Amino acid sequence: MHGTQQNFIGGTWVPAVAAAPNVNPSNLNDVIADYARAQPAEVEAAVAAATAAFAAYSRSTPQERFEALKKISDEILARKDELGRLLSREEGKTLPEGIGEVVRAGQIFAFFAGEAVRGIDVEITREPVGIVALITPWNFPVAIPAWKIAPALAYGNCVVFKPADLVPGSAHALAGIISKSGLPPGVFNLVMGRGSEIGDALLRHPGIAAVSFTGSVATGRKVAAAATAATPMKKVQLEMGGKNPLVVLDDADLKNAVECATNGAFFSTGQRCTASSRLIVTRGIHDRLVEALTERMKSLVVDDALRAGTHVGPVVDRSQLDQDLRYIALGKEEGAKLHWGGEVLNRDNPGFYLQPTLFTEVDNRMRIAREEIFGPVAGVIRVKDYDEAVAVANDTDFGLSAGICTTSLKYASHFKRHAEAGMVMVNLPTAGVDYHVPFGGRPLCG
Ligand code: NAD
Repeated sequence: MHGTQQNFIGGTWVPAVAAAPNVNPSNLNDVIADYARAQPAEVEAAVAAATAAFAAYSRSTPQERFEALKKISDEILARKDELGRLLSREEGKTLPEGIGEVVRAGQIFAFFAGEAVRGIDVEITREPVGIVALITPWNFPVAIPAWKIAPALAYGNCVVFKPADLVPGSAHALAGIISKSGLPPGVFNLVMGRGSEIGDALLRHPGIAAVSFTGSVATGRKVAAAATAATPMKKVQLEMGGKNPLVVLDDADLKNAVECATNGAFFSTGQRCTASSRLIVTRGIHDRLVEALTERMKSLVVDDALRAGTHVGPVVDRSQLDQDLRYIALGKEEGAKLHWGGEVLNRDNPGFYLQPTLFTEVDNRMRIAREEIFGPVAGVIRVKDYDEAVAVANDTDFGLSAGICTTSLKYASHFKRHAEAGMVMVNLPTAGVDYHVPFGGRPLCG
């Protein structure tokens, strides 16, 4: 039939046997054109044409398919106004909706053009790096070693493990268990000692292919420098400190916020890289939060770690206690208010007992808000609203963990995307890990 829009079969436009008008539902006087109405014989012909083409097309290269789909996408997008108009004219969607749908179709072709190339057959295998040195901190004497040793062995690497010299006991016990696992001699090795001596010897050793280090920023810098100065250069993985913010908004569940702050700031004596050391609190809830948190702190039992009922154990050693006390003195000098705690405590046994400590009226520029203290010391920073809270949370040299306490989905969702930290917690303490998901900071110092 003359002037009719035809079927496309086997690479050609085929004259129509029958046709019907395509009427505009917005204007019944408007007939777009007559369009072919296929007959069973044309179905037969179309299937036969597709069958004939399949053998070659199914073996065409992904690049060829990419190019065809990309060309289709390009033309759809270039003609979006015209095609959108046609769509709206025959279907009745508004013009912006019609154009929007055409754009979407163009995007779909573009996406699957890319997918075609991804179909190129590549085999990715996990292979061992070689001999790896694992250097760990004292504050998680068994879990951090486990998190380095287990994956190293799982992928076929051989290990030289150097634990922190403050905590050789857990490392030694773990090595005892590993020694009985049936692994061949030499696959796993333990060397205990001072980091500055044997840690350094490991980093310079040409036989070590990779180093996984967790510890402080200062040591991490040395580790990176030594590992890249060595020949051949070593692969380096660094996990370092934190100055993690916990934001508490006016609409937070107060009880839960207090638990998140208590857990994050004071449990494990605050000696966690993911500890909440900056409590960033909006002004509407500030006083209530400080009061309730102080009450909760008063209820914490600081005592021998082995005693039943102890909530907060001692600081790890004399030098860490001295560091905590130096920062407490510094906080006062800087003009923060020592709201509660900060006293060294005497208990039945001689030990390094320190009261959980809360500063208020903290300014984020103070050193107690910028440097990792690594003790049971937290500072409250008062802010006017959510926007200021995020800005203050992100104003730090670290980027390990961040948390928010709020009942607002809007703020929780926004914070998850905009907190500049490797891990973001909602209505949970900043500390705490799941071993089946990645753990790590942003490439600041975290
Ligand atoms: P650290 O940096 O003093 O020591 C870490 C390890 O490095 C120890 O085994 C130490 O003996 C070794 N070491 C020291 N000097 C070395 C050198 N020159 N060459 C090679 N190795 C050397 O840290 P620490 O005091 O044991 O641990 C506390 C720190 O660890 C805190 O900063 C904390 O935030 C951080 N940490 C980070 C994470 C994390 O996953 N991001 C987890 C736990 C602890």
